[in-house]
Amino acid sequence: MAGDTIFGQMLRGEIPCDEVYSDERCLAFRDIHPQAPVHVLVIPRKPLESLRAADSADSDLLGHLLLVAARVAKQEGLDDFRTVINSGSQAGQTVFHLHVHVIGGRPLAWPPG
Ligand code: 5GP
Repeated sequence: MAGDTIFGQMLRGEIPCDEVYSDERCLAFRDIHPQAPVHVLVIPRKPLESLRAADSADSDLLGHLLLVAARVAKQEGLDDFRTVINSGSQAGQTVFHLHVHVIGGRPLAWPPG
């Protein structure tokens, strides 16, 4: 079922999360296994399984997620930060509800593995 992931459960309030931002279109919360001093996930309330499932009807939503990512980074005191969207298991996606990672607070190497 679309949205039937741990993130869907968070959106429905069935399990708790460490929320840092919420509005009518998205929720942002701290990653349970942070890869840096700041590691937040921004997720749409709409149950898109990944970026590859989005289409032109989602343009505004996708823009909103990025603006919220930048807002959260600023809220967390970050000038420099990385945003990551993994799409598909070969790219490292493990939770199949679209999410934008916001990572920062330490120097970040490039390219990622
Ligand atoms: P992905 O690998 O799909 O790009 O990212 C999924 C992220 O979700 C991972 O960084 C992982 O640590 C995080 N995650 C998985 N389960 C939970 C959970 O129950 N709570 C929180 N806050 N993060 C989770």
